[in-house]
Amino acid sequence: MAASVPKAAIVAIGDELLLGDTVDTNSAWLGRRLADLGVPVCCGWTISDAKAHIAAAVVKAAASAEVVLVTGGLGPTPDDCTRQALAEVTGASLRVDGDLLAGLEDRFRARGYEVLPERNVSQAQVLEGARILPNSLGTAPGQAVEVEGSLVILLPGVPGELIRLVEEQVVPLLARRFAGRLRPLHHRHIQTSGVPESVLAEMVESVLPEDMGPVALAYLPGLGGVELRLTARGVDSAEAARWLDSIEVALEPVVREYRYHSDRRDMADALGRALVAASRTVAVAESCTGGLIAKRLTDLPGASEYFVGGLVAYADRIKTDALGVSREDIEAHGAVSEQVVAAMARGVAQTMGADAGLGVTGIAGPGGHSAQKPVGTVCFAAYLGGRCEVRRERFGGDRAGVRERAAQATMALLLRMLEAG
Ligand code: ATP
Repeated sequence: MAASVPKAAIVAIGDELLLGDTVDTNSAWLGRRLADLGVPVCCGWTISDAKAHIAAAVVKAAASAEVVLVTGGLGPTPDDCTRQALAEVTGASLRVDGDLLAGLEDRFRARGYEVLPERNVSQAQVLEGARILPNSLGTAPGQAVEVEGSLVILLPGVPGELIRLVEEQVVPLLARRFAGRLRPLHHRHIQTSGVPESVLAEMVESVLPEDMGPVALAYLPGLGGVELRLTARGVDSAEAARWLDSIEVALEPVVREYRYHSDRRDMADALGRALVAASRTVAVAESCTGGLIAKRLTDLPGASEYFVGGLVAYADRIKTDALGVSREDIEAHGAVSEQVVAAMARGVAQTMGADAGLGVTGIAGPGGHSAQKPVGTVCFAAYLGGRCEVRRERFGGDRAGVRERAAQATMALLLRMLEAG
């Protein structure tokens, strides 16, 4: 009989999570990471900082899963009482670990504090018999203890610290403990933009092989487009790769027109790399997106290789004076028009001395619309090598949604021109 797959439970601690002040991103991240590792999360609790609640939740979680990940409550303040709760649950005493204490004192000295504040001494407390999991980014280490045959792991609440500690300490620990029982997931992501989910689904279903083997397909729509996620489970990486390759090949003819390739799953990254590959630079003139395209392009390290500059041309006067858009075009066709956006894309490339120019102007709403130009109407253009491609679309969603979709579509337009050569 095949060994059973180990399951995990999560206990997320913090009044701020229950009050809605902090979104529980730790549980979301742990859910994904543990599924990928092959220890799926089967249940979870979100609880207050109260010691009795923490103890009760850990006992329930340990009865439900072989691994319990507890996040939060390891700090130095009185509301941080995860350690004390675990001491009650396990019956183990808390002791101050000399090495941890020395490490804390060094950290504080480096920050200019000669004496370690009394409160911080609690962060050097460990449960008798616990395995200490060093925290390379923060002050409180993780700890692993046995509770009724389950492994309970205490983790910091700060998301960056939690992620680092899980990658460095917890993943290797679980891989050893459950060797031979892990069923990792193998993913393949296909990014698309510019096609509605239902249309894409119809095309995809028409080419999907009847036998998908261990692979499941999910449609993940977002503001930037629809991601297809193929997931193989229960097989080794070589077999997973064989199945994923064959299904990806089957999908290619229908997704090619809409697909973009980026390890970051980001259109700006795909466009940036296409610009570098073509040795081209770009400048952007944005009205309704207010600098969103410039931000997304410059979020990426190395953007200076292809990004020259951007102008938020919101008022008509800026469109005419800074970009050379003709006043007559604005009067005759309006600021949201194919004529104006083409002149914006060309104008910004020429003014800033870039090989390519992007322009976008639209009605993000909720006001400013008319019968001819309802909310969501966006004109966008890409100029490259003397040629200008212009589009008009009606995007759905609220103001933020329209702006995100407009930025994505504008970048996609230039990407397609670069790909066409
Ligand atoms: P520290 O040792 O740094 O004090 P801690 O283990 O005591 O960390 P908390 O004090 O509970 O953790 O939280 C520290 C920070 O991390 C807070 O800003 C909190 O909002 C955030 N945080 C806590 N839990 C979560 C969670 N589940 N998801 C996202 N953020 C969280």
